[in-house]
Amino acid sequence: MTDLLGSSLTSLLGGRSATALDKALGLRTAEDLVRHYPRRYAERGELTDLASLAVGERVTVMAEIRSVTVRPMRQRRGSILEAVITDGTATMSLTFFNQKWREREFRAGRTGLFAGQVTVYGGKRQLSHPECMLLPDGVADDPLAVAAFAGALIPIYPAGGSVTTWDLQKAVQVVLDQLGEPADPIPDEVRAASGLCTLADALWQVHRPTSREDVDIAVKRLRFEEAFTLQAVLAQRRAEVAALPATRRTPASTPMLDAFDRSLPFTLTVGQREIGEQIRADLGRDHPMHRLLQGDVGSGKTVVALRAMLAVVDAGGQAALLAPTEVLAAQHLRSITGLLGPLATRGQLGGGELGTSVALLTGSQRSAGRRAALLDIVTGDAGIVIGTHALIQEAVDFHDLALVVVDEQHRFGVEQRAALAAKSRDGSRPHVLVMTATPIPRTVAMTVFGDVDVSTLAELPSGRAGVATHVVAGGEQPRHVARVWERVREEVAGGHRVFVVCPRIDEGADDDADGRVDAGPSDDAGEDAGVTPMPMTAVVPLAALLAEGELSGLRIATLHGRMAAEEKEQAMRRFASEDTGNAVDVLVATTVVEVGVDVPRATMMVIMDADRFGISQLHQLRGLVGRGSLPGLCLLVTQAPVGSPARDRLAAVAATTDGFALSALDLELRREGDVLGSMQSGRRSSLRLLEVARHEEVIVAARDAATAVLEADPALERHPALAAAVVTLRADEHAEFLEKG
Ligand code: ADP
Ligand code: MG
Repeated sequence: MTDLLGSSLTSLLGGRSATALDKALGLRTAEDLVRHYPRRYAERGELTDLASLAVGERVTVMAEIRSVTVRPMRQRRGSILEAVITDGTATMSLTFFNQKWREREFRAGRTGLFAGQVTVYGGKRQLSHPECMLLPDGVADDPLAVAAFAGALIPIYPAGGSVTTWDLQKAVQVVLDQLGEPADPIPDEVRAASGLCTLADALWQVHRPTSREDVDIAVKRLRFEEAFTLQAVLAQRRAEVAALPATRRTPASTPMLDAFDRSLPFTLTVGQREIGEQIRADLGRDHPMHRLLQGDVGSGKTVVALRAMLAVVDAGGQAALLAPTEVLAAQHLRSITGLLGPLATRGQLGGGELGTSVALLTGSQRSAGRRAALLDIVTGDAGIVIGTHALIQEAVDFHDLALVVVDEQHRFGVEQRAALAAKSRDGSRPHVLVMTATPIPRTVAMTVFGDVDVSTLAELPSGRAGVATHVVAGGEQPRHVARVWERVREEVAGGHRVFVVCPRIDEGADDDADGRVDAGPSDDAGEDAGVTPMPMTAVVPLAALLAEGELSGLRIATLHGRMAAEEKEQAMRRFASEDTGNAVDVLVATTVVEVGVDVPRATMMVIMDADRFGISQLHQLRGLVGRGSLPGLCLLVTQAPVGSPARDRLAAVAATTDGFALSALDLELRREGDVLGSMQSGRRSSLRLLEVARHEEVIVAARDAATAVLEADPALERHPALAAAVVTLRADEHAEFLEKG
């Protein structure tokens, strides 16, 4: 029994077919091809409902030929062959130019599969030059043939380029016939316990099913395999992290942490305290902590992280806090030095005995400031270092890096692994804590973050007034938009600050939008619904217009990605400032405002063309207001009509402030690739049949099975096929990692 899965298609199919498959679909090996599963199956006797086909759609239809005519073309030499096909009720025609020879096989009464794009000609729907496959002739007359063909399912493959579904079907048949019994990555005992068929059976049945039941059995097994291999990778990574050396950071006493806790103007929530204990336990082990801290914006993650940082500084080590942007890094510096008070001033004139100094390191820093910061970092004078994510990738020399905190992580795997790869002086690895404000549904946590321990801050600190959200329909009620600006004035008159968030920087162009407008359904849905963007929903023109009109007399600043770092920093500082003298009242910004910024006086947010943003993003944005004791108001201004999917999404955001409920909804609405892609696209290519939103039980079962297999056989010596699958999957992810890192 040979295993041919790794063989090249060239050796199995010959050069021409192999080249076509590679060019059209990137299929190179036998495995690539047999893992290119049918999208669906056409069933003989089950003709396609022709009336349901939409013009413009690419379709594969099964239908019966009713009549065939050939006539000369009017203007030019040559002939037109027209075949009328029917599903028994509706008809449509197939047209071919200069293919008179088809008359021989296109006989009335024959059934075939026809693939092409639906067009309209002379008021009738047609397929012009479709790809054709006629079913065996005479089936209807020959009882034996009928029996052989009855119930047969014809696989319809995702086609591409010059390769049609039946080219694929033929190629797959050739390869399957030579395949033998490929080695199965799922160990026998796991298969038996889960009631799954072998890989060989699954591949045969998915490509050559005799019944729907065959397909179900095959898909069940192949889907489990995807989850299982992925979970094996995650279990292996967990084991690897557990084997890395790290220094225990549990000092006998924690004077700085204790002083900090005493100085806090509030009491920690139960969640903050419990997670603090988990982290303390992690830091006491001699392998690196590898923990994800999730919680809504404003749930108090930064305080949790800061307490962990102080604990390692108490133990003589250093902590680095990495933010995704310079604005956020600057914000962290402000809020952390603010929270630390005298504890952050050691080494300064009049500074306290107890404490440390906090260094900032960003890309746009001038060289003198940068040199001073680097010096503080290498000598260990700076116990806490705040910088942008690049900090960890650059060769910054730490005296003794004990803990890396990664904030607002969006390229999860990449940053997290880069952080783990950092080494402290003695070659041990730092402990890693990752913070995210995007609530992660359980299944995604298991699929994408399965090698990480997860802590969740579920409650908001008490005393939070929260935020009320309303949809303002710009299309139906333009008056209401005018009312929005009156409301802004009232808010500012009360001494408060207002965010105005726009999807674009300048009018017209879409491509200058900053950062993180989700590439999710927001854009598509907006366009599908024919929603024209409202006038004045770009930062620069809107700010100018408001300054002259509705908001004249107020102090307005802009913030967007094309501003220099210093300008951004200054705008943000004036907007966040408690001092009312030199403050900014209204900040008109793109999403560079970033979800982590803390502006206690901000009570209102207006989001223009809110339908352009994804659900999770809207939820995070509005988390910027209502963080203090003052209630927040968030207005989602949109042109999307009532009943459109875009409008429904906004209504959902307005209806609840439960971040987990919203992210589950987001997951349902978005295509799988988008969800995983935004976090880690390496996962995408390996998941064909597994849908994270729908197959929770499969994922849980696969995780348990994979964990057990790896515990018993960490090097997978007794499971060579699984070991090979794991290596392949990790290599794919590694390629992704290199590309991005
Ligand atoms: P996150 O990082 O999760 O968005 P922060 O840690 O920045 O949240 O906290 C948001 C605000 O709430 C900050 O002003 C912080 O000082 C305050 N805060 C944090 N924990 C508490 C608490 N237990 N009680 C009251 N306020 C808190
Ligand atoms: Mg934060």
